Amino acid sequence: MFPVIYWFELSIVLPLFYEINSFGYIIHCIIGTYLLINVVSNYVAVFLTDTSIEGKFLSSELKPNWKFCEICECITPPRSWHCDVCNVCILKRDHHCNFTSCCIGHYNHRYFIVFLFYFTIAATYCSYFNIFYILKYTSFNVIGFLKLLLPLAAFLFGHDVFTLQFHRLLCILTFVALVAGGTILIYHLLNIFNGTVTYERAKNIKDYDLGNKIDNIKQVLGKKWYLTLLTPFIASELPCDGINWDKIKQLSAKAK
Ligand SMILES: [Zn+2]
Ligand SMILES: [Zn+2]
Repeated sequence: MFPVIYWFELSIVLPLFYEINSFGYIIHCIIGTYLLINVVSNYVAVFLTDTSIEGKFLSSELKPNWKFCEICECITPPRSWHCDVCNVCILKRDHHCNFTSCCIGHYNHRYFIVFLFYFTIAATYCSYFNIFYILKYTSFNVIGFLKLLLPLAAFLFGHDVFTLQFHRLLCILTFVALVAGGTILIYHLLNIFNGTVTYERAKNIKDYDLGNKIDNIKQVLGKKWYLTLLTPFIASELPCDGINWDKIKQLSAKAK
């Protein structure tokens, strides 16, 4: 859907506000293209980055907080959990993301949160312009309201000019993306600020909270955390290897 929404905004919605090839049009094209590149590249990086225990050098002795995974048949480090869908243990597992069809863990957490950030920004940016598009092409009576509320039904039953109803559907999808993306982004940002993953938050475990938002952000975005928003192609080394958490745990205890 990302390229379809991109095409819709630049070819259908934006020309309502700016003449094609005018200064304003080109500026919005540049901003839109930058947002699209960051949404797509971070999205791809999420599922191309292996964050499982496969190929990692793990301990052969059962240390405190380590556990034995009967399915992977090996001893796995703290914060790692077995994912039934991926069928492997994931380092610092946050959750299995159905949207990207892979687990979010220690090594792809950065791309996931930056993807969500740009996804929400892009959906907000599009929705702002889409409001004016909807106001211009929708009559405000019961039928017009139903066309907005049930865009897919009106689209399938050919209740309106086919193209116009398809455009309304794209506007509604973008608005749903804004609400859903924004809600998920806030939830995961709070996890990152507090140094927890989804499971630890549910169980009120704060063993890896460094007591400082910037230090907690570095645990996910790496040492060059301030550059990771620009592009996923900038390397940013993580302070922890995802396996040995003793030092982080000690720092967390000290911070308390
Ligand atoms: Zn496992
Ligand atoms: Zn998974």
